[in-house]
Amino acid sequence: MAQIGFVISKQQHILIAGGGIGGLSAALAFAKRGARVSVFEKRAVLGEVGAGLQLSANAMHVLSALGVEAEIRAAGFAPNAAVLRDYQSGKPLLTTPLKHAHRARYRQDYLHIHRADLHRILFEAAIDAGAKIHSGNQAMRYTQSDNQITLHLDQHTVSGDILIGADGLHSQIQTQILGVQKPQFTGQIAWRGLVPAKALPTGAIPPDANAWLGPGAHFVAYYVRGGDMINFVAVREQKQWTKESWHEAGEVKNLRNAFAGWDPRITALLGACDQCYLWGLFDRKPLPKWTDGRAALLGDAAHPMLPFMAQGAAMAIEDAWVLAASVTAQAGMPAAALADYETRRKPRASKIQAISRDNAKLFHTRSASGRRFRQLKLAIANKAPALRHARLDRIYKTNVTQNSK
Ligand SMILES: Cc1cc2nc3c(=O)[nH]c(=O)nc-3n(C[C@H](O)[C@H](O)[C@H](O)COP(=O)(O)OP(=O)(O)OC[C@H]3O[C@@H](n4cnc5c(N)ncnc54)[C@H](O)[C@@H]3O)c2cc1C
Repeated sequence: MAQIGFVISKQQHILIAGGGIGGLSAALAFAKRGARVSVFEKRAVLGEVGAGLQLSANAMHVLSALGVEAEIRAAGFAPNAAVLRDYQSGKPLLTTPLKHAHRARYRQDYLHIHRADLHRILFEAAIDAGAKIHSGNQAMRYTQSDNQITLHLDQHTVSGDILIGADGLHSQIQTQILGVQKPQFTGQIAWRGLVPAKALPTGAIPPDANAWLGPGAHFVAYYVRGGDMINFVAVREQKQWTKESWHEAGEVKNLRNAFAGWDPRITALLGACDQCYLWGLFDRKPLPKWTDGRAALLGDAAHPMLPFMAQGAAMAIEDAWVLAASVTAQAGMPAAALADYETRRKPRASKIQAISRDNAKLFHTRSASGRRFRQLKLAIANKAPALRHARLDRIYKTNVTQNSK
């Protein structure tokens, strides 16, 4: 696989804790620059949950620069538009054209992809670029000196130049950098699942990124795998999350009950669903720091966010590029390079955490007067593309591959 023009010395050994989308993006970004990369994933078998993911232009710019655009495009689905709908009538409240309009404005596509497909593509490309990926290895803690950092795994230790904590919401590496800081339950739960498109009449779900907005809840549905599967995310407010894990198998019966009386297209989709998973949705206030000498956090370990702007994985992918670029630019000065990465990334990630939180209020407005006001706001935005652009450009217009080589 071709290398990126700016090369890191082969002597640099990059250790990555966590083999999710963030960890594998970082593995690929560093390996393509010629670094020696070792990923340690605690699960015995690497993979991703059966659910979809939206990839906007800002993420696609990075994936393209990392050389996996063609594979992503082949596995993905390009929606016509992002459509906010009334929860009962299904009537569009706000339509933002995507298919050609997103590329025309942001120079990349907006795609839907199965998470397992994205994970596999990143995994294969990282291996192809020379990264070593070790499953069944749990990161416990690290120690560091002036010359190296040592990752202590459950079975052994390994030393390198830089350690990246890409170990998700409950990051061990974050705990060591900052002490125990529990993520906050946001008062929202999400069911996720996939339904074969052929289980419903053709076109039953419009080929858009659809979000139905109801009181205290919303329902998202879109196609993945070239249109063969329909992914859904059903979010509802709930006071408590009492489970120990943050996701688990969900009861389809409870899901159907929670969305009874919504648009008949949702009822039909859930009628065809035989398996779903349930998530508690957590986030954190922006962390005081992401780095400690030769250690840095990335992705959900640094900035978990509500999924209401569909940007969590996109931010992890952007992080990976900027981190590899900062380390390349400041060769031999790992702590300075990581501090530079934090300075570049934190304002943007914090801003998108906040926008995602605000969307929860907009999506879940309960009172009749609040919903009338929202309808009016969305009707105005529908007629004024400049208003929509002002909001979305902040997210989609950024191309980190141009800002940092
Ligand atoms: C309902 C929902 C919908 C979403 N939709 C979108 C979307 O459309 N678009 C988008 O961009 N984002 C979306 N997101 C967000 C996105 O899923 C996450 O932001 C992204 O997966 C984070 O990736 P990550 O690699 O940082 O963390 P994770 O995916 O959590 O990966 C962390 C990895 O580290 C491993 N690990 C954990 N601890 C250790 C340890 N101690 N040692 C070794 N390995 C360890 C884990 O097993 C895991 O493989 C959504 C999230 C949710 C909940």
